[in-house]
Amino acid sequence: MTPTAHPDDPAAPHDLVGIGIGPANLSLAALAHPLTRLRTAFYDQRPHFTWHPGLLLDDATVQVPFLADLVTLVDPTSPWTFLNHLKDRERLYPFYFAEHFHIRRTEYDAYCRWVAGRLPALHFGHRADAVRWNPERALFEIDLARPAADGGAEATGRAHARNVVLGIGSEPHVPGPLGPLAEDPDLPVLHAADYLAHRDTLLAAGHVTVVGTGQSGAEVFLDLLRRRPAGRERLHWIGRTEAFAPMEYSKLGLEHFTPDHTRYFHDLPEPVRDRLVPAQWQLHKAVDAATLAAVHDELYRRTLHGGWPDTVLTPGVRVRTAGRLAAGGIELHLEHPVQGTRTRLVTDAVVLATGHRQRPLDRLLAALDPHLRRDRAGRPRIDEHFRLVLDPPVTGTVYVQNAELHTHGVGAPDLGLAAWRSATILNHLTGGQAYRLPARTAFTTFGLHPRTPQVPSARRAGRLTPLADGT
Ligand SMILES: Cc1cc2nc3c(=O)[nH]c(=O)nc-3n(C[C@H](O)[C@H](O)[C@H](O)COP(=O)(O)OP(=O)(O)OC[C@H]3O[C@@H](n4cnc5c(N)ncnc54)[C@H](O)[C@@H]3O)c2cc1C
Repeated sequence: MTPTAHPDDPAAPHDLVGIGIGPANLSLAALAHPLTRLRTAFYDQRPHFTWHPGLLLDDATVQVPFLADLVTLVDPTSPWTFLNHLKDRERLYPFYFAEHFHIRRTEYDAYCRWVAGRLPALHFGHRADAVRWNPERALFEIDLARPAADGGAEATGRAHARNVVLGIGSEPHVPGPLGPLAEDPDLPVLHAADYLAHRDTLLAAGHVTVVGTGQSGAEVFLDLLRRRPAGRERLHWIGRTEAFAPMEYSKLGLEHFTPDHTRYFHDLPEPVRDRLVPAQWQLHKAVDAATLAAVHDELYRRTLHGGWPDTVLTPGVRVRTAGRLAAGGIELHLEHPVQGTRTRLVTDAVVLATGHRQRPLDRLLAALDPHLRRDRAGRPRIDEHFRLVLDPPVTGTVYVQNAELHTHGVGAPDLGLAAWRSATILNHLTGGQAYRLPARTAFTTFGLHPRTPQVPSARRAGRLTPLADGT
């Protein structure tokens, strides 16, 4: 598209309206900022930027190197780099000597808040309630409302845009059997997303159970362990995975988080993609090896003077049902499918480190539903430019960020691909090369008929001649 807006006309429709300002759309807003002919606006329901505040634990680090900030991997000369943030805060020298390739989560949050506070196109405190297509004006209409503390909302206006980008992220997931307990305000049963706000309550509880053997489960268990008295820890850590498994972090394994792998994955047939995503859980759902080591180290430290920590760590466990006991306490009915055993655990508080799920697009896009092309499982089709596939009468584009796990693979939520995805969207939107992107990003060649051009020397070394399908 060629931008046609007149930046000086306040009533002019936007070329692009972004819904949600998490890292994904913040990256896009930062990369769009120097493209001065583009008229953009971004809206978020929250009063200000914040990144998973309930899990901003002091020692937790971001699981991608600091180079995977909002912009660097496509434009290290951008003013919105993490390094420029450090320069602005006069922290470059301490950072240089600290040698932290993986920065703290609190530091990443502070960096994003620094960017969010400086980009003029961002508007917080506005929730988008509906996106409609107006065929007469060939524009999208976006209804905006200010969320109120009582759960209601006050309409704040309507934005008009030729194109929309959804970056509405994920929301905490609570498994069915634990839903009623988590909704009971009188019970200390909470999702890990709210951990820090309730940590004192958990530390005062007699016995605490952490459910979930992924990264947040490990971090919450470690944090509670470190803060409870030696010998009287009274902690259970259970979850469904068959082991406390380390996240894949080998150099070649990490190439699953490259544009090359994303393109390869997108070209695969739908049933194959659906088979691969759950099989690749260890690429993104397991626990960082350093966190597992820290858990072991803390447990070990507690044996130095004899004795054993009062903890139970059992993977491979499913919570079948749960209930509140009349005499006080919470009862969890547990099953170990591999061993074929069941038991009952009474606990005083539960932390559900049971992950996040993509926020559904359907409510926001209800008015577009008749135009939305879906796959066999009813999910939106998403093309290689991160566009929802819409019927031709809708001439505007809806891009998505971090809603494309089923079409683009495990890299969808990864911060290391956010800048590349944002630049891909901006290149498509502007019909040009707003950002020059690398043709090749991995040493691995994904598939025998790669779409990514191979470097000439590699072609000479061992050229593969494509054969007809099935041969
Ligand atoms: C605790 C935690 C740690 C993580 N750490 C890492 C990591 O180290 N490395 C990594 O690669 N990935 C990590 N991830 C995964 C992922 O990168 C992050 O979840 C990231 O925040 C995703 O960014 P996002 O912009 O897509 O969504 P989000 O950060 O979820 O932001 C979405 C935003 O949209 C807003 N919104 C939603 N609906 C509306 C609406 N209707 N109107 C207006 N606003 C709306 C929300 O308020 C929110 O601010 C982590 C995830 C979690 C939960």
